[in-house]
Amino acid sequence: MLVIFGFKNSSRNLGLAQATCPRCGHRAAQRVDRRKRAFSVFFIPIVPLGSSYEATCTACGVSTGISRAQAEGILAAAY
Ligand SMILES: [Zn+2]
Repeated sequence: MLVIFGFKNSSRNLGLAQATCPRCGHRAAQRVDRRKRAFSVFFIPIVPLGSSYEATCTACGVSTGISRAQAEGILAAAY
């Protein structure tokens, strides 16, 4: 029997928010993404292996790993 398994990475854009970039220091739009990783069988995610959050500065393009609380804080300030 053939079983196809592997890892699936997915990324979801959670939104844009104005924040000060830790790298370039400009107050610019930061794109907040959530990245999820899961063990998959037949390309279907079965076991979630956790998620991480990332903010990408639209001024300098640098992505910074942030915590979930930081991501929610950035997005909460946007609305
Ligand atoms: Zn920047």
